[in-house]
Amino acid sequence: MTEQYQHRARKRFGQNFLHDAGVIDRILRAINAKAGEHILEIGPGQGALTEGVLSSGAQLDVVELDKDLVPILNQQFADRSNFRLHQGDALKFDFTTLGAEPRALRVVGNLPYNISTPLIFHLLNNAGLIRDMHFMLQKEVVERLAAGPGGGDWGRLSIMVQYHCRVEHLFNVGPGAFNPPPKVDSAIVRLVPHETLPHPAKDHRLLERVVREAFNQRRKTLRNTLKALLSSDAIEAAGVDGSLRPEQLDLAAFVRLADKLAEQAPAN
Ligand code: SAM
Repeated sequence: MTEQYQHRARKRFGQNFLHDAGVIDRILRAINAKAGEHILEIGPGQGALTEGVLSSGAQLDVVELDKDLVPILNQQFADRSNFRLHQGDALKFDFTTLGAEPRALRVVGNLPYNISTPLIFHLLNNAGLIRDMHFMLQKEVVERLAAGPGGGDWGRLSIMVQYHCRVEHLFNVGPGAFNPPPKVDSAIVRLVPHETLPHPAKDHRLLERVVREAFNQRRKTLRNTLKALLSSDAIEAAGVDGSLRPEQLDLAAFVRLADKLAEQAPAN
């Protein structure tokens, strides 16, 4: 492809561009875009994934922060009727403006690692719009997302994401697939928002609060870390053993603690 514009990767935008055709193809097969679908790509960069998604015939909206990439993307894709470019910060982007049907939006991206966690939380605020998400993330983050109780990876990120989504760690990608290569291993994760929450909390803000408090000091017992929120008796009444550490509790137990807190705290 002849390129009229040259672009140097910028560290502050987390730019590690995919160049390995085999990896790109594997990601596109995992996404499996189809005509008639509505896809949002975060951080298209120089378009490594964009071409494959567009050629499926799906409607594609892309959000790219780096203004210098806009002419590069437009040069390649502006003539495609299913392509729409939004220049701006995905963390501030209002996803409701895309006009997607409920549970229809498919979100994809090789994400800048510095914004991946806040971006996932921002997207989960609009979970009702989303059908699924496929992201390239730092492998360590994917391991935390997909973790189960009992180990060191299980924490606030695993619990709050699994509250909303089913998580699948699809495959790992080494640094050599990118230009420039990142210092860490990466992995592709699939997040599918639950149609019906398996463990709905009375107030999910209280769930966030209990989980944050509990994992602030993950070596301590729940009785200790949750002291300011729940008495030992209240913890026991929620069916939870207060002598356990937070990493030993599953999502359902955290929801019971949050609901106990909801009972004692008047809704505000
Ligand atoms: N998708 C391309 C690829 O796979 O080669 C680029 C991936 S690169 C890891 C991340 C991209 O996200 C860059 O193009 C970067 O400019 C863009 N980006 C960084 N921060 C962003 C933000 N807050 N909102 C939208 N895009 C952002």
